[in-house]
This record gives sequence, C-alpha cells and structure tokens, in this order.
Amino acid sequence: MENEIPFVSLSSGIQIPSLGIGTWKMGEDHRHRASEIAALQAAIDQGMTVIDTAEMYGEGAAEEVVGEAIVGRRDDVFLVSKVYPWNASRRGVIEACERSLHRLGTDRLDLYLLHWRGEHPLEETVGGFEDLKAAGKIGAWGVSNFDVDDMEELISVPGGEYCAANQVLFNLARRGIEYDLLPWCQQRSIPIMAYSPIEQGRLLRHPELVRIAKTYQATPAQVALAFVLEREGVVAIPKTSSVARVAENRGAIDLDISDEDWDALDDAFPPPTRKQALAMI
Ligand code: NDP
Repeated sequence: MENEIPFVSLSSGIQIPSLGIGTWKMGEDHRHRASEIAALQAAIDQGMTVIDTAEMYGEGAAEEVVGEAIVGRRDDVFLVSKVYPWNASRRGVIEACERSLHRLGTDRLDLYLLHWRGEHPLEETVGGFEDLKAAGKIGAWGVSNFDVDDMEELISVPGGEYCAANQVLFNLARRGIEYDLLPWCQQRSIPIMAYSPIEQGRLLRHPELVRIAKTYQATPAQVALAFVLEREGVVAIPKTSSVARVAENRGAIDLDISDEDWDALDDAFPPPTRKQALAMI
C-alpha cells in the first residue's frame, strides 16, 4: 500500500504535500500536449497536487497547459506561478499576475514567486505581492533563487517577513544549500521548494545511485527524490510529461533508506563543508 505524501506547512498555516510536479518545457510542442495534461492530472489523482509553473515557461504556454489540466479541479491543486524579474515592479507584478491568471483560467494563485532577483527594488515587488494578497488574487508569495544574503535583505523590507517559500536548485549533486540556506529557512519555517530534484535526469546514471536503487528494487529517480524529501520543510517538484513517471516519482515516498545507504550517498555526493554560492539552472 502507498504511504500518504507527508505535508509541509506554510507560515500561513496551510499545509501542502511535499511532492508535486514541475512544468518547465511543457507547452512548447503541441504534439506533447495530451501527455503533459495526462501527467498533470495523474499527479493530482495521486496527491502530488503542488503544480509549479511560471510565465517564463513556453512564454505562457505552460500555464495554458496547466489551465487545461485543472479545469473543474482548481480546488484540488496548490497552484504556483512565477513572475519574471523585469515584470516585478509594484504595478508590473499585478499586471503579470493578471496575465498568468488568465492563461491558467483561474481567479487566484496559491503561491506567486519572484523567479529570480532583478533590478526592481524588493520593497516594490513585495508591495505588489501584498496588494495581490489583499485583493485575493494570490494566497501567498515567495521568491526563487534567493541565497541567504538575499533572504536577509528580503525579510528586512516592509512586509518581507511574509515570504512563504524560497524555490531553489537542490538535489544530490547540488547540496550547497545544506550548509546555510536550508537551515536558515528551516529555522524560520520558510519551506524550500527543490527544483530540478533529479538534476533534469543527469543524475540518474550515477553508479552509486544505480547500485543503491537496485537494493530497494527502486529506480535512481526514486532514490534521488527520497533524498530531497528526507529534509524537513522541503517540497520536491520533479517535472515529467509521462503518466508512468508520475507514478514512479510518487513511489519515492514509500522508500525507507537505511542509515548505511544514506552514508553511502554522502560518500558519493558529499555534503558541503563551507559556504558555496547558490547554484542555479
Ligand atoms: P527535473 O530534475 O524535475 O527533471 C526533469 C527531467 O527529468 C525531464 O526531462 C523529465 O522527462 C525527466 N524525468 C522526470 N521523472 C523521471 C523519472 N522518473 N525517470 C527518468 N527521467 C525522469 O528538472 P526541472 O528542471 O524540470 O525541475 C523541476 C521543476 O522545477 C521545473 O519543471 C520547474 O517547474 C521548476 N524549476 C524552477 C526553476 C527556477 O528557477 N525557479 C529552475 C528550474 C526548474 P519527461 O518529462 O520526459 O519524463
């Protein structure tokens, strides 16, 4: 029997599943549309209800795919989108959000993220996010690709303390955040959304990962996801356009990896011993 997907709490008290689905590259080729929609719907069916998208993905086309996938099921999903940094002025963020809502066919996002830091002052972006929250267009807001110094600056601007999540690159091969950003966020109950949790597939042929996966009759992707999910306050959003892989990724929840095998993974993918600049894709 499948285990329930554990929940991660946002500061607002809302709980979201620690496993969802990403959408980068969706909407770029109409021949894949049906399988993308099927994969998103399978993810919802299996409780992976955090759907991560962005105005950047396919220049809006990924949001349209998501919109189609969630018709009649809006309340079943926790919908996340992101604003381009150059749209993140106080007024620009509101206009960008309206466009995203239109493409998604909904009247609200659950979480709206600044995709990465740009030229607009954080006060402005936060002001726009707070306006959107007050208007009921978003449930919460957060950031992406913010390192510790960016987070310190963010929480010092008016309203910055309401940041609900930071979405960053995190996987076995990209462990830098374990040194500082991850504990910083954990101490403040700000969830980390781990993007590219299987390193866009590049991790999966690593011999040690393959070896450990075999001992559990699991796949390398499942072990890679289990690694991310093992951390408190972390949500993983692997992207797949395959229904079979949705089920495979969901299976990561059922893995119970021994201490010995965690140690072996640490040997193969050493944790950071000093500050590393935040990695990005
Ligand atoms: P992932 O690590 O999620 O890998 C996705 C790739 O792996 C796809 O090519 C997919 O192919 C393949 N894949 C998925 N599951 C499996 C599996 N079980 N076995 C083998 N291959 C598999 O990379 P992403 O970069 O897509 O990251 C996930 C999401 O995070 C993005 O889609 C996006 O929503 C978000 N993101 C955010 C960023 C940011 O700056 N905030 C940056 C990058 C990503 P297929 O579809 O054919 O199954």
